[in-house]
Amino acid sequence: MTTIDHRLLQVRARIARACAQHGRDPAGVALLAVSKTMSPAAVREAVHAGQRAFGENYVQEGVDKIAALRALGCTGLQWHYIGALQSNKTRAVAEHFDWVHGIERLAIAQRLSAQRPPGLAPLQVCIQVNLDGGRNKAGVSAPEALALAQQLLELPRLRLRGLMCIPEPLPDFAAQCALFGQLRALLAQLQAAWPPGAAALDTLSMGMSADLEAAVASGSTLVRVGSAIFGPRA
Ligand SMILES: *Cc1c(COP(=O)(O)O)cnc(C)c1O
Repeated sequence: MTTIDHRLLQVRARIARACAQHGRDPAGVALLAVSKTMSPAAVREAVHAGQRAFGENYVQEGVDKIAALRALGCTGLQWHYIGALQSNKTRAVAEHFDWVHGIERLAIAQRLSAQRPPGLAPLQVCIQVNLDGGRNKAGVSAPEALALAQQLLELPRLRLRGLMCIPEPLPDFAAQCALFGQLRALLAQLQAAWPPGAAALDTLSMGMSADLEAAVASGSTLVRVGSAIFGPRA
């Protein structure tokens, strides 16, 4: 068994254990393997171990890797853009990725919608919320998230699926849960105001290698895990 195989099993076991402890169905927690800085060969190993969804932080690296995996014969993968996004890079993301997790500006969302090729499914997006003022100050405040969500409804080629956060490292499980619980409450608020018939707001993108248990305990539906699967980044 390769290291990536083994680590993937360990991560899936962590998710399953957290689900069992908190009365959740493991089918309700998707695993996004964050492959930034990792080689196409490493991604292929994860594919061979059954992983399908991958997250990338840098546009050109991601676009190149998507092409490389296709050339290696790996098809049917789902690619999530989880990094910061400048307006001059939106076209490449709209053309190559399935999801974008860090939406924080209407202007970027408008470009993504306009540039999404007609032959592809709408781009699935999450609004990034900044609940603790940390990590490069990326993300919008809770009230801004509610307003931005309404504006995204007007964009035909985007589907808002939920909220995402990248908290500062917190000292313990209780503090992590308190922070993640705020994102869950905000999603509930948004769901209550959501028009019937609009695409389901079903995604809480929260939890990474160090805090996925607290995220699962707090209702995460998608954990973004890098180093626990691929090993430490250079
Ligand atoms: C790098 C990254 C991750 C994964 O972090 P790990 O600690 O390696 O699991 C998750 N989400 C985002 C947005 C990232 O940039």
